Amino acid sequence: MVQVYLLSEARGLGKEVLGGKGFGLVEMAQAGFPVPPAFIVPTEACRAYLKEGAVPGLEEAVAAKMAALEGLVGKRFGRGEGATPPLLVSVRSGAPVSMPGMMDTILNLGLTLEGVGALARATGNPRFAWDTFRRLVQMYGEVVLGVEAQAFEALLEEAKRGRGVGADSALGAEDLEELSFRFLRLLEERGTPFPMDPWAQLQGAIEAVFKSWQNPRARAYRRIYGIPEEMGTAVVVQAMVFGNLGEDSGTGVGFTRNPATGEKGLYGEYLRNAQGEDVVAGVRTPEPLEALKAYAPGVYEELRGVAERLERHFRDMQDFEFTVERGRLFLLQTRSGKRTAKAAVRIAVEMAEEGLISREEALLRVEANALPGLLRPEVDREKAPKPLLKGLPASPGAAIGHAVFSNEAAERLSAQGLPTILVRPETTPEDITGMYLSRGILTARGGLTSHAAVVARGLGVPAVVGAEALRVFPEAGRALVDGVEIREGDLLTLDGGTGEVFLGAVPLLEEGDTALLEKLLAWAEPHRRLGVRANADTPEDAKRARALGAEGIGLCRTEHMFFAQERLPYVQRLILAKDEEEEEEALKHLFAFQKEDFKGILKAMDGLPVTVRLLDPPLHEFLPSEEELRKRGDEEAKALLERVEALKEVNPMLGFRGVRLLLLRPKIFRMQLRALLEAARELREEGLDPRPEVMVPLVADPKEVERARALAEELFQEYGPIPFGTMLETPRACLLAGEIAPLVDFFSFGTNDLTQMTFGLSRDDAGRFLPRYLEEGLFPFDPTERLDEKGVGRLLQLAVEEGRRANPRLKLGLCGEHGGEAGSVRFVEPLLDYVSASPYRVLTARLAAAQAGLERPRVPVGVE
Ligand code: PEP
Ligand code: MG
Repeated sequence: MVQVYLLSEARGLGKEVLGGKGFGLVEMAQAGFPVPPAFIVPTEACRAYLKEGAVPGLEEAVAAKMAALEGLVGKRFGRGEGATPPLLVSVRSGAPVSMPGMMDTILNLGLTLEGVGALARATGNPRFAWDTFRRLVQMYGEVVLGVEAQAFEALLEEAKRGRGVGADSALGAEDLEELSFRFLRLLEERGTPFPMDPWAQLQGAIEAVFKSWQNPRARAYRRIYGIPEEMGTAVVVQAMVFGNLGEDSGTGVGFTRNPATGEKGLYGEYLRNAQGEDVVAGVRTPEPLEALKAYAPGVYEELRGVAERLERHFRDMQDFEFTVERGRLFLLQTRSGKRTAKAAVRIAVEMAEEGLISREEALLRVEANALPGLLRPEVDREKAPKPLLKGLPASPGAAIGHAVFSNEAAERLSAQGLPTILVRPETTPEDITGMYLSRGILTARGGLTSHAAVVARGLGVPAVVGAEALRVFPEAGRALVDGVEIREGDLLTLDGGTGEVFLGAVPLLEEGDTALLEKLLAWAEPHRRLGVRANADTPEDAKRARALGAEGIGLCRTEHMFFAQERLPYVQRLILAKDEEEEEEALKHLFAFQKEDFKGILKAMDGLPVTVRLLDPPLHEFLPSEEELRKRGDEEAKALLERVEALKEVNPMLGFRGVRLLLLRPKIFRMQLRALLEAARELREEGLDPRPEVMVPLVADPKEVERARALAEELFQEYGPIPFGTMLETPRACLLAGEIAPLVDFFSFGTNDLTQMTFGLSRDDAGRFLPRYLEEGLFPFDPTERLDEKGVGRLLQLAVEEGRRANPRLKLGLCGEHGGEAGSVRFVEPLLDYVSASPYRVLTARLAAAQAGLERPRVPVGVE
């Protein structure tokens, strides 16, 4: 037999039984808040209904609790008696986890034509009675009987037109009576007549709420947020209180702190003489809660007190719904309020300082992934128009600039002092100048670890990538979005935190005060075991990362240094060298550049480890495109073209790159390592404390590591040794970790390539289909963004275990993009010594690592 609970009977039961809404009501009632009496049909009944199509005993249980409810409020369900109006109820869904607006609600239930008369008599307000009835017929018609909202709206519009009025509230009692009959007729005509029996209404409504668990909206929501299908929803049946009884009544929503800024104090909206759904439907615009101060100061004060007590009781910022019925306040719902990242930090810190929560709780309340966005401006959503375009939010922050489609245009406009936004189909290393000069980057293709995304995050430039509706024609200097043309120089605004792109300049909210964030992160430090380093390729990045708390550099991608304009010619000469002499000459120049680069970075990270990765990409990336060379057509271009053709690979990401290139062109290897060792030596002579480390990318076999190590040892003989490591970014290297480990001092998991190769999914092309995969629920999340624990994670675990066993002194790090993603950091926290993330994401990694430390179960002393 299914149990149904009055609020007073449900103490001690959890959200999984009562749903979030039911749970909140039970808590509030128990704590003495003014809550209308209610009973709760538990989630178990929903599960049984969806499985069997019926719930044995439910009708009787509901009837018994309704009788109890009648006793509590002194009214009869659906039946008025003399001066006493009928008891009406609301029937609301309430899942164990919040799914705002996803499921159905019915208000004013229990009213019949007979009841309308009684309600009118008892309240002395026929307009109210008919308004209540027409609302019920409409809502019941839509939610339970499945008639489209449009049909009711059309009749309502017609009634208003007939009267020559614009607002619902201008319709009188007679108009509403007539409208009610039209609604009833509509339902009759559709073959779904409105039940004039309160009990039939109640049963229909409860079943409709059960069924709404399965509506497409709710299913999609669960898929996106990973909420289990089998949970089911509870149903709350609550005595109605009326906000539409006149000017001394109303309904509103309150927050105990401002959800956008986190500022403490009552915040919210109120609608006079209205029921809750008027606010939701947006038919009337509510006023700020402060307005209540003027015409109901007592109620406002009471609300203030309620807000404070709610917060003290639930120990979190609350978002609550209330109704004022003839000056009397009732609370209908409360839950922890959703908030922006900025508000989350402020609320957590201030609540801890107020003594409401502990510092540890404060740390766990902030979403670590949202932190980088706090340091950048964002689009002011209240003032922004509709976005033109939406892509993937690749690098947070908002940027306003003039559209440019090439490096050349970026340089030209920048020289005029104009901010630019680089718009490309996708980016390649050749676009680095334009990326560097621009305030924002927008691409049509590519996922969250595509070149554009990775480089933008490194540069700290806001970026939106994979905006599939965008078609870019760089040669023509234009782009199209659904027929809207963007030309060079047109102003665009993009928000890399949301993925939205706007035409024109849109108002921005400037970067806030970071004092609170710093305080929170200082509280995090004692709980963090995992080291956090940064991925940085320039002294500026290194300095920024250090200021954000990085404890060294975990990945310095040396190829980025080769792309600078004055260096590229030497790289090209190196690639094209016809004889040793030419090769040596080019290497000499590159050596000088690299040494200076390394000195800058080592200096910025003085006293902290700097892991330099030797050259990784295939050589053709340093050569001009075939197209460009053909266009040029001179002798040199022809020679270059020949080389480009010779170097061309069908699948360069799996081609002649990484350790393969380094072993077969050992001069490059030696030049880079010597530059690093020499840079360190010179700094040491200046009295500094450089801590270089070197690593080779893309190995798949211990033999490769052995050979690379031998090459390195030649130079270590001369300069003294530094830590030598390898990246683990091929599945085979992970599988053979036990054989590789004795050959190195450290492993650094390159989870970008490792994910790409484990899934057989190109990170640069995944943008074409991954969004669909996520929509369709084929993947629960984007594995290029969050580490896939089941597959990639398993390889990593295996490599850690076998690597450590074979070499107990082995250091373990991770330097793929996952090192700056909170969920991934939590997963690797017990396994590794450090993660390395792009500079702004150092904040995320620091907080996530502390959160993992706090969440790790502590083994009590004496227990194994
Ligand atoms: C990786 O593959 O995870 C990595 C850090 O290297 P890159 O992104 O440069 O290929
Ligand atoms: Mg890699």
